Amino acid sequence: MRAKIVAGNWKMNKNLAETGVLLSELKTKLKESPDAKIIVAPTFTNLYYAFEELKGFDIDVAAQNMHQAENGAFTGEISASMLKSIGVETVILGHSERRAYFGETDELLEEKVKTALKHDMNVIFCFGEELEDRKSDNHFNVVESQLKNALFKLDNEAWKNIVLAYEPVWAIGTGETASPEQAQEMHAFIRKTIADAFDTKIAEDVSILYGGSVKPANAKEIFAKPDVDGGLIGGAALDPESFAAIASSF
Ligand code: 13P
Repeated sequence: MRAKIVAGNWKMNKNLAETGVLLSELKTKLKESPDAKIIVAPTFTNLYYAFEELKGFDIDVAAQNMHQAENGAFTGEISASMLKSIGVETVILGHSERRAYFGETDELLEEKVKTALKHDMNVIFCFGEELEDRKSDNHFNVVESQLKNALFKLDNEAWKNIVLAYEPVWAIGTGETASPEQAQEMHAFIRKTIADAFDTKIAEDVSILYGGSVKPANAKEIFAKPDVDGGLIGGAALDPESFAAIASSF
């Protein structure tokens, strides 16, 4: 049985004090035995604090990005071993905002994934088509090539540390969600693509999250689809009530 996961990507939101407030509200609002694995991804400066605050709670902490090099002259960057040294075991890689605003390519992401896995970290790998791609009926090709370019050289063993997050760019922060049918159709395609490139067991075991304007009002319907194993939540993750409601939408 593959893991159900609800992860909150806080993006560049919440200073230290605000992080404290959100974490303590989450600690009271999230169910004690959640139906899914819960992950929060605050910004770098608040990761250690979040990790310390959440000790003893069933909530994991993830980073939103990481550099591919081990260490060295890369001003402003954060390495895998730095994250591990503060207890962070999971990293989100390939978010569409990293791709769009910071020039992250599939080739760079392949490097980042490799480095994360070398450090035995878990990777939430994001990908998804833009509106143009969907309009021109090219969305399956785009998704397939994003997966192929960044992940297809992995060995089978690596997949135990990978979670996939399909986030159609046109649905991120727009209020426009993929319909449950659109999400299911793409997730089934992703699973088949992994089965063809690797094997059926890997494809059946990998969790595939949906991201893009998930909110309490639509989470249940989306998560009910057989190939949707949870969500990567942006805006609604900043509101503890909404995030807790989404987390118990299975
Ligand atoms: P929204 O939920 O705000 O659309 O963001 C989704 C996202 O980008 C999560 O990584």
